[in-house]
Amino acid sequence: MKPLLFVAALTLIYLAYCWVYPYTACGNCDGGRHFTADGQYWRKCGRCKGSGTKIRLGRKLLGGTRDL
Ligand SMILES: [Zn+2]
Repeated sequence: MKPLLFVAALTLIYLAYCWVYPYTACGNCDGGRHFTADGQYWRKCGRCKGSGTKIRLGRKLLGGTRDL
C-alpha cells in the first residue's frame, strides 16, 4: 500500500469514528465542574458550559455540530 493511501485510509477511519463518537471528555474540568481544594464548592466549567464533554476536532471538521 502506498503511504499516502494509508494515511487517507486512517483519516477516513478517524473521521468515521468521530462521526459515531463525537464527544470526548473535557480536559479542562472534572465532569463539567471546577471544585475548590476541599471539594465542597464548585462552579461550572466555562469551556464546556458545565456539560463535561467536548466535541472532538474531527467531528467539528465534518460539520453539523449545531444539534450536538
Ligand atoms: Zn469542562
